[in-house]
Formats: sequence, C-alpha cells, structure tokens
Amino acid sequence: MAVVLPDAVATPRSVTILGATGSVGRNTIDLIKRNPADFVVEAITGGSNAALLAEQALLLRPRFVAIADKNAYPALKEALSGSGIEVAAGAGAIIAAAERPSNWVMASIVGAAGLAPTLAAVRRGGIVALANKESLVCAGDLMMREVARSGATLLPVDSEHNAIYQVFDFERQDGVEELILTASGGPFRELTRDAMAAVTPEQAVAHPNWDMGAKISIDSATMMNKGLELIEAHHLFAMPEERISILVHPQSVIHSLVRYRDGSVLAQLGQPDMRTPIAYTLAWPERMDVPVDRLDLAALARLEFATPDTVRFPALKLAREALRAGGTAPTVLNAANEVAVAGFLAGRIGFLDITNLVDHIVAELSHYAVDSLDMVLAADIEARVRAGEFIDSKTT
Ligand code: NDP
Ligand code: MG
Repeated sequence: MAVVLPDAVATPRSVTILGATGSVGRNTIDLIKRNPADFVVEAITGGSNAALLAEQALLLRPRFVAIADKNAYPALKEALSGSGIEVAAGAGAIIAAAERPSNWVMASIVGAAGLAPTLAAVRRGGIVALANKESLVCAGDLMMREVARSGATLLPVDSEHNAIYQVFDFERQDGVEELILTASGGPFRELTRDAMAAVTPEQAVAHPNWDMGAKISIDSATMMNKGLELIEAHHLFAMPEERISILVHPQSVIHSLVRYRDGSVLAQLGQPDMRTPIAYTLAWPERMDVPVDRLDLAALARLEFATPDTVRFPALKLAREALRAGGTAPTVLNAANEVAVAGFLAGRIGFLDITNLVDHIVAELSHYAVDSLDMVLAADIEARVRAGEFIDSKTT
C-alpha cells in the first residue's frame, strides 16, 4: 500500500463521516468536537436514525447531510429546516456525500451497504479511514486496485489493522514474515458448543472489552469478526492467508503484532477504546491528544494468550477457506453472515445457526472471479436471497 502525503495534511482538515450515527461515527465526532479548530465538516450520513443525525448536524454544521432510509427524510428535513444545511435521502445520496470534496473520509457504515460509498470516497483520492471491513471482505481486490489507481491513502481504523499499520515496514515488506491478529475471544470464549446453542442476542451483544454496534458484537461472539479481519488484513497488507495467524488474547491490550524475518516481533498496545485508532487516522500523519485512560501495565500485571479453537468457532475456518477460494467466495461469506446475524438478532435463528448458515450458503453457491462493482453486488444479492430463503425454510 502506497503511503503518500496528500494535500489533506492541511489544517483545518475537511472531513466527511459516513455512518456518523453509529458507534465508530459517534466516537469520531467526540474527537472532532474536542478539537474544533482542526476540522471542518463537509458531510455526514446516517442509515435511518433521523433524530440523532439532525442533532449531530446542528452540532457540526456540515454542508451536506444524507440519510439512507427515504422514509426518514421528512423528519430529517423538518429538523434541519432553516439551518441552511443541504439534506438528501436514499442510497444515491450516501454516495453523493462520499463524492463531495473533503480531505478525509471516515468510512464507518456497517456491512456491504458501505461498499459503494467507500469506493466512491477511495476514487476521489485523499485519506480514507476505513472501519467498514465488510467492504474489503466483499470486494478487496477491486477496492485495493482503486486505492492504487486514485492514490488514496487507506488508513485502517479496525484496531488490529491499525496496530499492524503502525508497526508494519511498508518500505521493506519482504522483511515481514507474519501478521498476528489478536482476538479477545468474545463473550463466549469459554462456552461449550452446547451452551452456545442457547445464548440470547442480549448475551451475544455484551462484549467483555469493547463497546460496539450490534452487528460487529455478534460477529465477535461467533468469531466471524476475526475471520473477516483475516481477509481484511490480507488485502490491506498484501499478505497471503497462510502468513496471517490469530492469537486469542482476552485482555485486548495488545492490538496486533508483526513478526519479522529476524525473529523480532513488533506490537502496538493500548486501552480497548476505539478513540485511539480513530484518532490515529484523524490526525495522521501527526498525533492528537485523546482522553483515554493511560495503559498501566503494572496494574494489569498479566496478559494471557491462547490458540483459537476452530471447532467451537468454525467461522475462523470458514473465512480462511473463503479467502483461499477467492473470487466471490468472501463476498458470499460476508453476505450470508450479514443475513444470518440479522436473523439471529431478530430471534429467527439460534446462535449456532449463524455459522451453519454461512457454511451452507458458501458451499452451495458457485464462486467466480469478479472485476467490477456490479459483479460484486450481484454476488452479494444472490447470497442474501439464498440465505433469506434458507432461514425462511427453517422457520416456517
Ligand atoms: P453501528 O451499527 O453502530 O453503526 C453503523 C452506521 O451505519 C450507522 O451510522 C447506521 O445508521 C449506518 N447504516 C446502517 N445501514 C446503512 C445503510 N444501509 N446505508 C447507509 N448507512 C447505514 O456500527 P459500528 O459503528 O459498530 O461499525 C461500523 C463499521 O465499523 C462496521 O463495518 C464494523 O465492523 C466496523 N468496526 C467497528 C468497530 C466498533 O468499535 N464499533 C471496531 C472495528 C470496526 P443508523 O444509526 O441510522 O442505523
Ligand atoms: Mg477489530
């Protein structure tokens, strides 16, 4: 990945936040509000939460606000009437927000819904802070090709990838032997498969270390999150699947590690607070003050590590296989997982059904090479339809 210093290093930096109303979006706004002289906000977007998006708009005074859900448009328009802020709705409006001229874009929409807007931001060049891992999972080759073509600087927000980014020698990549992604193991790290069969959505979203949106919290509980992150790391750091390993580390203090050919291992450590990796991307290539608790290793006293259990957490194996298969296999894995997670959150399927469904859909659908956004979206939709039918057949 090319690291170039774009004009974007200007102050104040103009920023766009895609997914402003989410967990990452709200943390980003928290940091921007603490440093008002350093940022001007060009655009913010939300999915359907018009009330929060309007509140954020009145606080940040962006030029443009877009909401994906057209039904939420009247409420948003009404709340911002007389403010002078331009308001729009629909999937096209989210892409329009991404296309607006800003130096820095936070891509923090959840799921494959973030793909087209993130790609639109990448195509403009500039800095793209990437939280939306699903866009790299479902269209990694396409996305990285566009990054290279546009000269965009893609800065990972995901804490593991942000950690690797901070210790990865981009100038001498052949010195890197292995990437080691740490995983907390989620709330069910010690549960048997039998016990997992009975867990509720409320138990599954309660992550022991991180406070995140519902979808990624469920992914952490199944460990599909780590599987998605494996694919994300493969694309971000051009690293083959067999040279990326996963290490369970329940305290989430070491955010990830890079092993070099000479045996050196470099890691980045910090509190499990997303404001640190977000701030890294917001201030990049400088650093900014962040009011997170300082890490006190003496107080922590010990850090633990373990090998992941792919029998209890088959998602890790499924993601590796999809990455090896290539083409649309990761696209299908991601889409089936999104449908399964939504089905679990809606109480339609059980916890273990999530990975069973993903396994079934990836095995059922044929995988092929893709070279355009339309082809990726077609594979994504096909997998969603099949996954939906599968859930319907089990629940009716
Ligand atoms: P949230 O669910 O909290 O927020 C998602 C955001 O996307 C919200 O702004 C939501 O709007 C918006 N959104 C939902 N659907 C659509 C849509 N169809 N079109 C446009 N916008 C939409 O998620 P998180 O903030 O937790 O996660 C965001 C991304 O960051 C994910 O890809 C996740 O994997 C990644 N990530 C998150 C971390 C975290 O700590 N939360 C850590 C590492 C990565 P609305 O609120 O209106 O529904
Ligand atoms: Mg992560």
